[in-house]
Amino acid sequence: MPASDPLITRSSPPARVTVGLSDIGILRRVLGMALRYRRGMAIALVTTLLAAVFQLLIPQYLGKAVDSARGLLAGGDAEAARAALWRTAFLLLGASVLRGLFTMWHNYQGEAIGQRIAYDLRMAYYAQLQRLSFDFHDRTHSGELITRGMLDIEGIRMVINAGILRLVLITVLVGVGATLLLRQDLWLGLIALSFVPFAAWRSVVARLRLRAGWLALQEKLGILTRVMEENLQGIRVVRAFAAQPHELGKFDAISEETLALADHRIDIRVRNTAAMTYAFFLAMGLLLWVGGGKVLAGEISVGTLAEFLAFMAILQMPVRQLGMMVNAFARASMSGGRLFEVLDREPEIQDAPDAKELRITDTALRFENVSFTYAGARTGARASGGGPTLATLHDISFEVRAGRTLGIVGPPGSGKSTIAHLIPRYYDVGGGRITIDGQDVRDVTLGSLRRAVSLVQQDTFLFTASIENNVAYGNPWAERDRIAHSSEMARLHDYIAGLPKDYETLVGERGVSLSGGQRQRLSIARSILVDAPILIFDDSTAAVDAATEQGIREALRSQSTRRATIIIAHRLGSLMDADEIVFLEGGRIVERGSHQELLALGGRYASLYALQSLGNEPVAGAPAAPSPVAEPER
Ligand code: ATP
Repeated sequence: MPASDPLITRSSPPARVTVGLSDIGILRRVLGMALRYRRGMAIALVTTLLAAVFQLLIPQYLGKAVDSARGLLAGGDAEAARAALWRTAFLLLGASVLRGLFTMWHNYQGEAIGQRIAYDLRMAYYAQLQRLSFDFHDRTHSGELITRGMLDIEGIRMVINAGILRLVLITVLVGVGATLLLRQDLWLGLIALSFVPFAAWRSVVARLRLRAGWLALQEKLGILTRVMEENLQGIRVVRAFAAQPHELGKFDAISEETLALADHRIDIRVRNTAAMTYAFFLAMGLLLWVGGGKVLAGEISVGTLAEFLAFMAILQMPVRQLGMMVNAFARASMSGGRLFEVLDREPEIQDAPDAKELRITDTALRFENVSFTYAGARTGARASGGGPTLATLHDISFEVRAGRTLGIVGPPGSGKSTIAHLIPRYYDVGGGRITIDGQDVRDVTLGSLRRAVSLVQQDTFLFTASIENNVAYGNPWAERDRIAHSSEMARLHDYIAGLPKDYETLVGERGVSLSGGQRQRLSIARSILVDAPILIFDDSTAAVDAATEQGIREALRSQSTRRATIIIAHRLGSLMDADEIVFLEGGRIVERGSHQELLALGGRYASLYALQSLGNEPVAGAPAAPSPVAEPER
């Protein structure tokens, strides 16, 4: 992945993301999406044209009506004049009603197609977010992805009605309207149309300025949202440090900048509306003056002058809206660029073209000289002038089979979780390979691999749903008995059974109504229920007391003959029963063996064991254990 990948940047605001595709290409693609709804688009275009035609008839009928009324007032054949007036009035009424109906229809049709495109894009975007690799999600701010999924889809949705259909409407109204006026009377036509170039120019310039302001405003709103989101998520930390004034100050500073931008936008809008209105009434005054003179001179009728005035009134709205149309196209091309940038991205981790279903026979998981570097460390090293990349894992080899348990221990940051994440292919190894029953994990389908591996994550995440739904997340069709059994194995059933609504109890946002240990046990129950042949606990009992943890281990042992288990833990009591324990440091295995063998070795493991069991007294002859909080030197 290139270091300059525009999407992979946590700090860049959405507005500054480079658009990779050309604007025309993006708009063509949006149009292509609209053309999927050919029938709907055809109806929308025909109704738009009809609305424009009937709108153009109105001034002409109005002019005729005025002349007929004048004829009636002037005397002469009153009967014929009255009949002509009635006929014109009916035609005027008919044209107005039909214009209204077709306007309503084309608006409805344009909105409906826009909404369908938005639905298609939303589904495609959400599906793509599910496909994209962890590597992508690690380095892309979720706020940015949410913005793209909401505002950018909205930007594309609006281009159908406010862009494409409006373009057709404005072209017909201004084109045909101007031709009719100029043909009728060149000078009056020029006066009536004189406000058009000025109003169009002001409208476009103002819209583009408003657009720049809108982007800046979005950026500020994005920061505001982030500050508020972090404050709410970290509300306990904020209160614990009595940092409310600091947080309020932070919010206030950005709010003020947001307000200033909003004020600036209002200023642009008001000034331009005033300028356009001024130009329109100036042209109208001129038309009345020159046209009135022509009426008095008998060169044109009062009806013709009324027709010119009505044309002006009809033309002013679409001309004023020209800016909105330009804005709609500009926004759609930018939003489309940002959205397609995500949609077109190929996930780094995906099924190989000839991937097969994973076949589990002996459940033998092997790491063969595995090394790995996070993409962030790779690009970081490149960005800093090509220095050495900080490999996270070096030359890791081990095997764990059904019925056996591997323990992994080591200081924070030594690479334990990374090992766990490589097994279900959250990331791909940089060197070496990982096999399950002899099949390279890169050669099997991701679906079958992930069904075979159940990982209890270090950070528990619960959905805002009932306990039952959370436990059954990996197997929604599981019966209540099986859910209860998994919870029993995770030593959580008794607690749940004591709740007034037992398994129907809602856990609150991210499981807020449960204690840390209860959340961990719930996520253990969720993983047990899946009944995968490979089960990995990534420091997932850190918040559980030793006695409860012992109970969970014993319950799991009764089933472990058909399961390969990996336990990652800082507390040695969690893994000392493992068949093999590896001690990781700086991404390398520095010691390995059973608990007894490692104690006899008198190395880092033994020293850590002494620290944990004897209270800081190292085993004789053992080197000092690395601090459990210090990052390894690399
Ligand atoms: P702990 O005991 O604290 O959970 P660990 O041994 O599980 O630590 P890992 O989470 O595997 O350590 O991290 C190993 C190293 O990789 C650390 O230096 C960490 O900063 C880095 N690292 C972890 N995740 C990422 C990531 N997504 N992108 C870049 N670097 C990462």
